Amino acid sequence: MALPSHAQIVVIGGGIIGCSTAYHLARDHKADVILLEQGKLTSGSTWHAAGLVGQLRSSASITRVLKYSVELYKGLEAETGLATGWKMTGCLRLATNQDRWTEYKRLATTAKSFGMDMQLVSPEEVKRMWPLMETSDLVGASWLPTDGQASPSDITQSLAKGARMHGAKLFENVRVTGFEMKDGRILKVMTDQGDIACDKVVNCAGQWARQVGALAGINVPLQPVKHQYIITEKLPGLATDAPTIRDPDRRTYFKEEVGGLVMGGYEPNPIAWTTGDVPNDWEFRLFDDDYDHFEQHMVQAIERVPGLADVGVKQMINGPESFTPDGNFILGAAPECQNMFVGAGFNAFGIASGGGAGWVLAQWVVDGEAPLDLWVVDIRRFSGLHRDRQWVSDRTLEAYGKHYTIGFPHEEYDSGRPYIVSPLYERLKKYGAVFGSKLGWERPNWFAPKGMEAKDVYAMGRQNWFEPVGAEHAHVREAVGVFDQSSFAKYEMTGKDAQQALDFICANDVSKPAGRLTYTQLLNTRGGIEADLTVARLAEDKFYIVTGTGFRTHDLAWISDHIPEGLDARLVDVTEQFGTLSLMGPNARKVLEAVTDADVSNAAFPFGHIKEIAIAGATIRALRVTYVGELGWELHVPIEATGEVFDALMAAGAAHGIRPVGYRALESLRLEKGYRAWGSDITPNDTAFEAGLGWAVKLKKNIDFLGRKALEKLGNAPLTKRLACFTVDDKEVVLVGRETILRDGQPVGYLTSGGYGYTVGKNIGFGYVRDAGGVDDAFLTGGSYELVVAMERVAAKIHLEPLFDPAAARVKG
Ligand SMILES: Cc1cc2nc3c(=O)[nH]c(=O)nc-3n(C[C@H](O)[C@H](O)[C@H](O)COP(=O)(O)OP(=O)(O)OC[C@H]3O[C@@H](n4cnc5c(N)ncnc54)[C@H](O)[C@@H]3O)c2cc1C
Repeated sequence: MALPSHAQIVVIGGGIIGCSTAYHLARDHKADVILLEQGKLTSGSTWHAAGLVGQLRSSASITRVLKYSVELYKGLEAETGLATGWKMTGCLRLATNQDRWTEYKRLATTAKSFGMDMQLVSPEEVKRMWPLMETSDLVGASWLPTDGQASPSDITQSLAKGARMHGAKLFENVRVTGFEMKDGRILKVMTDQGDIACDKVVNCAGQWARQVGALAGINVPLQPVKHQYIITEKLPGLATDAPTIRDPDRRTYFKEEVGGLVMGGYEPNPIAWTTGDVPNDWEFRLFDDDYDHFEQHMVQAIERVPGLADVGVKQMINGPESFTPDGNFILGAAPECQNMFVGAGFNAFGIASGGGAGWVLAQWVVDGEAPLDLWVVDIRRFSGLHRDRQWVSDRTLEAYGKHYTIGFPHEEYDSGRPYIVSPLYERLKKYGAVFGSKLGWERPNWFAPKGMEAKDVYAMGRQNWFEPVGAEHAHVREAVGVFDQSSFAKYEMTGKDAQQALDFICANDVSKPAGRLTYTQLLNTRGGIEADLTVARLAEDKFYIVTGTGFRTHDLAWISDHIPEGLDARLVDVTEQFGTLSLMGPNARKVLEAVTDADVSNAAFPFGHIKEIAIAGATIRALRVTYVGELGWELHVPIEATGEVFDALMAAGAAHGIRPVGYRALESLRLEKGYRAWGSDITPNDTAFEAGLGWAVKLKKNIDFLGRKALEKLGNAPLTKRLACFTVDDKEVVLVGRETILRDGQPVGYLTSGGYGYTVGKNIGFGYVRDAGGVDDAFLTGGSYELVVAMERVAAKIHLEPLFDPAAARVKG
């Protein structure tokens, strides 16, 4: 078959991800799609995968993606005639200590919240299911009966055949060598056998995806790491339908294969492959066996399955796989190029993800919009920092090493820090700041009081910062605190049509006079929430946009991509030009009055306004907003003056009890005030109506905006889900999110956020209550509620109004 000179969509890479994407593009979208593979299909990482297929992740959408994989693998043979080797053996995860057991109780609750039946079983039950296992050290295990295993090469060949059956053309031995580009768009894919003009490109080049992306100027931050497993001779007594096993406390996994065992693990000292280019001719190749490095797994595995000591090793596989700095894969539209999409970096669960990832990626490529909330895997979660190869490698190795460690709530990474610091870093350290890191920025999470070590001590229950954060919280409610939020992402949009552009992009009405600011969501075509930010009008033709630290690349790309064609509106990222100090609390005005000559009275500077004021000789953009429910200002300070302005605030604030406050107190404060967090409480899966943000949507104005049609279509139809607030009085309970919501004993949803409100003295959670028959106020308040927290039912109350309302100076319980 000759290589065509044109195709609508070119998929690069013939591993499981490329084949699945091509299959779904052809099957679901009847796209004119070709796939180019430099060697043979499966010859990259896919052919040597172990083939364990797990489904549960901490994101509901990603769990849905993995469940889809299983459904696809079950039925593919019937369509293509090629078997996938799918075997539903179930998976046992072993626990040998109480923290791990608590982790599993939370995991099992998450599974139930996501509609999966994970059970916890006793050591005796484990022994019954897997008699060859040593179980004397077990507390128990989790059991997910619908997990299983499959043959990676067979699935891929089956998907490839299915793709061809639906009209895709697959070419082996064709290497992509470059791209012909114009104005940030790929016009042609260049190969060693000729050029192909195309509309869109999907980079599914596995561990080569970074260098293939670089040919188009895009960054795919992944790191190839050597991953090893062994395949043993037959193990007498091993059942062919034995469940797969994950033994995280011993860092190992097992799977039955032709009567023997596949056994591998995640060591704390992984070995990166190259930080340079991966050789193009790495086809069906492995590294030399490294028994010295593997010995640590061998020792642990024999203690778990003693019979292993007596069987020979048939083969050792030491292959490269691409891992990422946060352990999640990389999907979606590359922000640096208008028509390249990526599906790569699968962190050794590419076989489990392949079917579903191809499904959602194909939809994304065709629509230009993610079909679900795929934020945790979205390529726009990265930033310039991720172009630093060494940083990516260091952080990725840390993430790999933590693959099987216990996941404590609020855990931070240690590697590659500090990377970006605010001008206040050294000052805040002197106040005892304990920092967390977000998109490379060091941010104060909390402040250790005198006599306490400035360090997180992780635990499954309350952690060491619980009391100090309570004191910070109270301080903001009673006096005044200053938050260093310099890491906020900030953009300016300028041009004579800037307002027109933002009218279309924003759900709320931003067409206010200069000096006003607007809290708004940005909606997708389904009416789902793609961003949540503040837009301040500086002048007729100039807007200042502020959003969360982690959303910097995503929101910039979303806004830029949706500026209607032909308008004079330019968006620039000015994040590093401004430090941000949020001065919040009942005494905020007194402090501000003491450092500026500007009139900051309520009459002169009301809520929802922005003004330039002078502090310590610097001109500052002061925004009268709040995320904590108190009087306050965000002060956006020229970055070089941040230190002086902070010092001036601290000096003038001494008389009013000022102190620095961290992000963990901020979280508690916002939960009490009912402010939603994007990425958890509000996501692309949730409409503004469902989120209770209909008041911030300009449907009454005759202005077209993104998402309007979808919301209008919903009209006044009853909502099938609605965000509500829940409290739990029992102080011993710890909410971390994903706890199941029971209404009159029936599951109706799960928590999207969970934490503690120190003023109300209760645990607080947000979550969507669902009911196909419609969820109105009467439905919400008409039930009696419990939350399932780590498998225990606890009494809860529902609230439709914020718990804390400083204007009314009252606390609702
Ligand atoms: C030892 C080991 C065990 C594993 N076990 C499991 C497991 O149990 N369960 C699980 O889910 N996952 C497992 N994985 C992970 C799984 O193998 C990968 O996540 C998955 O195969 C990735 O598929 P891919 O399509 O992204 O990459 P690949 O299979 O590497 O495919 C990418 C393809 O792109 C091609 N390509 C690159 N550059 C070009 C170019 N310029 N032009 C044309 N083509 C190009 C390559 O030749 C390659 O074939 C394991 C991995 C390893 C290493």
